[in-house]
Amino acid sequence: MPQSDMLKFVTVGRAMPEKRTADDRRDDFGEIYREYAAEKAAEQSSRCSQCGVPYCQTHCPLHNNIPDWLRLTAEGRLEEAYEISQATNTFPEICGRICPQDRLCEGNCVIEQSGHGTVTIGAVEKYITDTAWENGWVKPVVPARERPESVGVIGAGPGGLAAADMLRRAGCKVTVYDRHDRAGGLLTYGIPGFKLEKDVVMRRNDQLVDGGVELRLNCNVGEDITFQQIRETHDAVLIATGVYKSRDLGGPGAGLSGIVRAIDYLTASNRIGFGDSVAEYDSGELNAAGKRVVVIGGGDTAMDCVRTAIRQGATSVKCLYRRDRANMPGSQREVENAEEEGVEFVWLAAPKGFTGDDGVAGVRVARMRLGAPDASGRQVPEEIDGADYTEDAELVIKALGFEPEELPALWNEPALEVTRWGTIRADFRTKQTSIPGVYAVGDIVRGASLVVWAIRDGRDAAEQILDRFDAASAAVAAE
Ligand code: FAD
Ligand code: SF4
Ligand code: SF4
Repeated sequence: MPQSDMLKFVTVGRAMPEKRTADDRRDDFGEIYREYAAEKAAEQSSRCSQCGVPYCQTHCPLHNNIPDWLRLTAEGRLEEAYEISQATNTFPEICGRICPQDRLCEGNCVIEQSGHGTVTIGAVEKYITDTAWENGWVKPVVPARERPESVGVIGAGPGGLAAADMLRRAGCKVTVYDRHDRAGGLLTYGIPGFKLEKDVVMRRNDQLVDGGVELRLNCNVGEDITFQQIRETHDAVLIATGVYKSRDLGGPGAGLSGIVRAIDYLTASNRIGFGDSVAEYDSGELNAAGKRVVVIGGGDTAMDCVRTAIRQGATSVKCLYRRDRANMPGSQREVENAEEEGVEFVWLAAPKGFTGDDGVAGVRVARMRLGAPDASGRQVPEEIDGADYTEDAELVIKALGFEPEELPALWNEPALEVTRWGTIRADFRTKQTSIPGVYAVGDIVRGASLVVWAIRDGRDAAEQILDRFDAASAAVAAE
């Protein structure tokens, strides 16, 4: 197809894949967008204007070759589109589903800027790789040669697995240690199925194992094996443990039963989706069925909690956030999805404490207004005196963000330097920590971030580790 068959954005409008109706999707954990048909994917791809300086690519953390795979999709050359797409992204179909595209590639698409509606880059990326899976084009890794070096990766989230994939492709022996019983990190146990169905993650885990990556699951580093043992076993170590310490709430009644942490709630829900038995779900502790639910927080974790509670059969679901809609950290697209599904947002509302005797019965809520901006330019929420009220709730979910665990103490490794936020100090370029041969990536370095950044970090760290191995072999050869 000549270039002139692209640039259709003037005559062809933006169209996402069909979105299931709120009524249809409220009762299950299936993804809410259906797949494009082949013609629709080609049509939507043909809207791209093939920019000489593609801002979509610049603003994709992986610098995916977006214009190229859009053109190939428009031409129906999907296997080639897949080859290009997977060359820069370890999990394109996962990013296509859950990247906040409005802040990354699509938000910077020039035809979006010119008012024509962005090219649906994420949906096309998902379509290309889902098609590749269907057609058997996604294969387990077969390295061209085996290398003698081995790498221990701690944490089987997207950061650790992206590195494991690259290292295995280069022929290293790779062992990934994770304290959970399934690999995938937050892709498996954090993010709900309505954003990312779990078989999409599990087939990637299987692909890695089939390619020779060893997964040591149910292995909590610091308890089941020491960090020092892992260092002694491998030629290099990569830490990709994410951030899991939940920010907490104080105030009267904060210790009442029925007030739970978002990560526990979402993990239990995801386990139920896998068919596991979860005692806290069966007992009702981590189950919203038949309850009035209040979720506290305004980020993406809060959005995932409210929408999970709807699907579990809560009688009402409210989300309290201390700023307003325009100033919330979560994605506007997710707020719209939640509202369609029946969630009520209570803006400018902050918890002051909790009511109840045996268990929580309500949240004492302070009404807020936005005051003067702070040093960062963000308006500071201020309490309005005398405007408190009680929001009834039998289940309160705290979704206030995550902080790093204290790894140097937990692992008895004081030489592992951390920043003042408790994240691991790693060189921005080399990903190396304060301990030579030990690298770190993803949320444990950045703080709570995005899947696409964890993938980028993991891929970059793998390159650095390989360079280190090559330099060491060259030095031995020169002796
Ligand atoms: P993780 O995915 O957290 O993986 C770390 C792994 O390390 C885990 O499997 C953990 O079990 C393991 N581990 C930790 N400590 C140990 C130990 N001592 N021993 C052994 N194993 C250990 N990002 C997006 O881009 N889009 C989204 O829509 C999105 N939604 C999100 C929803 C929720 C509810 C949450 C919590 C996060 C969401 N994120 C989203 C953020 C994204 O999931 C993370 O940025 C990303 O998963 C970080 O990857 P990681 O590899 O650094 O860590
Ligand atoms: Fe966009 Fe994310 Fe895909 Fe990059 S990886 S093209 S940011 S959806
Ligand atoms: Fe195509 Fe938009 Fe990227 Fe330009 S910015 S190459 S129009 S997707």
